[in-house]
Amino acid sequence: MHALSYLTLDREARQLRPADVAAFAAQIGGGVLAADDSGYEEARKVWNATVDRRPALIARCLSDSDVQAAVRFATSHRMLVSIRSGGHHIAGNAVADGGLMIDMSALRTVVVDPARRTARVGAGALLGDLDRASQAHGLAVPLGINSTTGVAGLTLGGGFGWLTRRLGLTIDSLLAATIVTADGEVRRVSATSEPELFWAVRGGGGNFGVATSFEYQLHAVGPELHAGLVVYPFAQARQVLRAWRDFNAGAPDELSVWAVLRKAPPLPFLPTSAHGTAVVVFALVHSGAMADGQRAAAPVLAFGDPIASALGPTPYAGFQTAFDPLLTPGGRNYWKSNNFSALTDAALDVVIDSAADLPGPECEIFLAQLGGAMARVKPQDTAFIGRDASYIMNVHGRWSDPRDDDKVRAWARRSFEAAAPHATGAGYVNFLTEDEAERVAVSYGANHARLQAAKRRYDPANLFRMNLNIAPAPAAATAPA
Ligand SMILES: Cc1cc2nc3c(=O)[nH]c(=O)nc-3n(C[C@H](O)[C@H](O)[C@H](O)COP(=O)(O)OP(=O)(O)OC[C@H]3O[C@@H](n4cnc5c(N)ncnc54)[C@H](O)[C@@H]3O)c2cc1C
Repeated sequence: MHALSYLTLDREARQLRPADVAAFAAQIGGGVLAADDSGYEEARKVWNATVDRRPALIARCLSDSDVQAAVRFATSHRMLVSIRSGGHHIAGNAVADGGLMIDMSALRTVVVDPARRTARVGAGALLGDLDRASQAHGLAVPLGINSTTGVAGLTLGGGFGWLTRRLGLTIDSLLAATIVTADGEVRRVSATSEPELFWAVRGGGGNFGVATSFEYQLHAVGPELHAGLVVYPFAQARQVLRAWRDFNAGAPDELSVWAVLRKAPPLPFLPTSAHGTAVVVFALVHSGAMADGQRAAAPVLAFGDPIASALGPTPYAGFQTAFDPLLTPGGRNYWKSNNFSALTDAALDVVIDSAADLPGPECEIFLAQLGGAMARVKPQDTAFIGRDASYIMNVHGRWSDPRDDDKVRAWARRSFEAAAPHATGAGYVNFLTEDEAERVAVSYGANHARLQAAKRRYDPANLFRMNLNIAPAPAAATAPA
C-alpha cells in the first residue's frame, strides 16, 4: 500500500503512512474508506450534486469512541475534518477534498420514551426516522419539511417546519446532546451540564464538536391533521400573496401556510392543462383539532380563484414526505435566502417579478411563514438569533444539466439581491451556500461575539472549520464560565 495524500487544516498537502491508516481503521467500528475501497464513491456523495469532492479518508463511525478516535487522529495529523450526517447542507461542507470525513450516517437509532415524551436520536438519523418513531405514539418534534434531511445538521442550525409556529424551532425542544469536542472529550450538554456549550450548539452549527446523539422533548401532534395544498394561477399572484400576508397576521399558531412560486408539477389533483404552468401554491398544516383546522384554513381557498385544492385529514408523518419527490438527491442546487420581519407590497412585487423569470421547471421561490412560538423565545437565549424572521424566503435554483450552472446561479443571485432591500440582512445558516462566508457574522448578529468566545474555549485551533465558520475569538476574550 502507498502513502496516502491528505490536506492539513491549512490545506497543505501531506502524506499518511499506510501503517498509521491501518491502525486508525482498526479503531473505527464501521471501518475507514479510502478512494480505492468499494463504497467510497457512494459514501462521499452529498445531496447537492454540484458538490463533487474526494476526501482522503471516510471514517464510518458507530459510537462515541469511534468519533473520539477520529477527532484525535485528525488532530494529531492536523488533518482537515468534515462532518457528515444527512449530507443535505447545500454548501456541501459535509465533504472536503483531501480531508477526513467523520461519517455519522450509520447512527440512525431513535428510541422514544412515550411516558416521558422524549426521544433519544442518533446523529445519523433522518427526519423521517424520527417522525415515524415518534408518530407511532402520536408525538413529534418540530422538524423540517423533507424527510430525508439529517436531524443533526438541521438541529444544530436551528430547524424549522410546519410545527414551528406552535412549538418553536427544533432547538427549542432539544433537552440535551452528546458532543465530542476538539480535545477528544465526550460531553453531555444540557441546560445544567456545560450550559455554554449547550447554548452554542443550539444554532451554532457544526462549529463546536461532533454531535453523536440528541435528546428531544416530544409533543402531542396528530397523527392526523388538516393539511394540504391550494393552487392558484400565477396570473393571480399579486392578489393571492397579499391576501395570504394579511390573513397570516391573524392566523392561529397551529396554522402554518407557506407560499411556493414555481411551475406546477404533475400533481394528480391538478388538471393536466395546469401541469407545467406557472402557479402559486399554498402548502398548509394545521396541527390542532381537525375541525379547528378546517375552519382556520378555509380562507386560504378564497384568496382568489384556485385552479384546484387538496385539503383534508392527512397523516402528519405522510405529509412530512409530501415534498420528497421534488427534493430528491442528485439534482444540482444553488440557493439564496433572505429573512423578512414583514412582507410589504413592494417586497411581494419583487418576489413575483423574480418568479416570473424562473430559469427552469425545477426552480422555485418559497416563502415560509414563521413567528408564533419561535418568536417568543428571546434571541439571546440560544445561539440562533433570527427569531424576528416572520418569513424566510428561499430562492431555490435547481437543475440537472451542468451547462445551466451559470444561468440558474445568476437568477438566484439576482432574485436575492432584488429582495435584499426589503429583508433583515440576516440569513438562516442552514440555507447559506458555500460562497456566503461573509454572511455568517451578520446572521448571528449580537450573538456572534459570544459564539466566538465559546469557539475559543471549545475549539481554539478551529479544527471544525469545514462549515459556516465561526472563528475563535482572540485569546484574551474567553467565554463566560
Ligand atoms: C431538500 C432540503 C430541504 C430542507 N428543508 C429544511 C426545512 O424545512 N427546515 C430547515 O430548518 N432546514 C431545512 N433544510 C436545511 C437543512 O436544515 C440543512 O441542510 C442541514 O444542515 C441538513 O443537515 P444534514 O445533517 O442533512 O446535513 P450535512 O450536510 O450532513 O451537515 C451539514 C453541516 O452540519 C454540521 N453537522 C452535521 N452533522 C453534524 C454532527 N453530527 N455534529 C456536528 N456537526 C454536524 C457540519 O458542519 C455539516 O457540514 C433543508 C435542506 C434540504 C437540502
